[in-house]
Amino acid sequence: MTGIIFSIERYAIEDGPGIRTLVFLKGCPLICEWCSNPESQLHTPELLYFDNKCVSCGRCVSNCPQGAIHHDRNFGLITDLDRCTLCGLCVEYCYYNARELSGKEMTVEQVMGIVLRDKLFYDKSNGGLTISGGEPLLQSAFVSELIEACKIQDISTAIETSLYADEQIVERTLNNVDLIFVDIKHIDIFKHLDHTGVSNEKILNNIRLIDRMNKNFIIRVPFIPGVNDDIETQRQIYKWAAQLKNLKHIEILPYHRLGMGKYRALGREYPMGDLKPVLKKELLFLSEIGKECGVEVRIGAL
Ligand code: SF4
Ligand code: SF4
Repeated sequence: MTGIIFSIERYAIEDGPGIRTLVFLKGCPLICEWCSNPESQLHTPELLYFDNKCVSCGRCVSNCPQGAIHHDRNFGLITDLDRCTLCGLCVEYCYYNARELSGKEMTVEQVMGIVLRDKLFYDKSNGGLTISGGEPLLQSAFVSELIEACKIQDISTAIETSLYADEQIVERTLNNVDLIFVDIKHIDIFKHLDHTGVSNEKILNNIRLIDRMNKNFIIRVPFIPGVNDDIETQRQIYKWAAQLKNLKHIEILPYHRLGMGKYRALGREYPMGDLKPVLKKELLFLSEIGKECGVEVRIGAL
């Protein structure tokens, strides 16, 4: 059983209790305009080139077996993606981390080999594994085996998911997971469709489903100016969430621009233009609105 992984981060402390290892799976059915991991959206591997780190040493050019990279006097380094076979050699030869291959096929055993390195830290801090993406439920069989492997090792598990998946997949895959993070990006079906590319019906139905399954879960709301930053939209989300009996709390994620450089590295335009980031202190009042609606609202750091 293999999955396509685009990143594994150790010693994380934001995505679930204690010290955690985060495993990011590639591929997502949503295309949120503010996505900070654009390399997660396609299921297949991709090559990123960070021109701000490149010193034009030319090692990638001379070591590419396909002759896919050349230097252009006006535009700098150009990679012909039609010729590129994603062999990853240029990444190995770049001493400046200006090139990155996103997406690697790994077995459950290989991932567990990394996860198990920090078992001692999980035990001491009530931490564990958090599976993220992309959308992990697109690789549900792999995720189920990973969760099962953690259970056998007595490692607690969390998942960050859009819940944009069929009910049977949600039931089957999340039955054994200890904590679920799910986003509500907009409560209005058409605005959700406009800004993420999909309707929110399936997502809201599946949030009700995990509530009926008595799963512990946290709803995250990315706070995006011009998308869902009006008080009435926030209030509607909180009121809707207040009906759920197993919701731990709502966490607001203020808009940030940390993913912008990756769009450039993928040769894509940043969809949010020059929209300014939102500061945590600007959103503290939302906790009061949450109280009025009968739900705890916490503000995340970023
Ligand atoms: S990944 Fe391989 S084929 Fe593609 S540009 Fe780099 S060295 Fe060339
Ligand atoms: S090897 Fe790295 S630093 Fe050198 S030219 Fe290629 S991308 Fe730039």
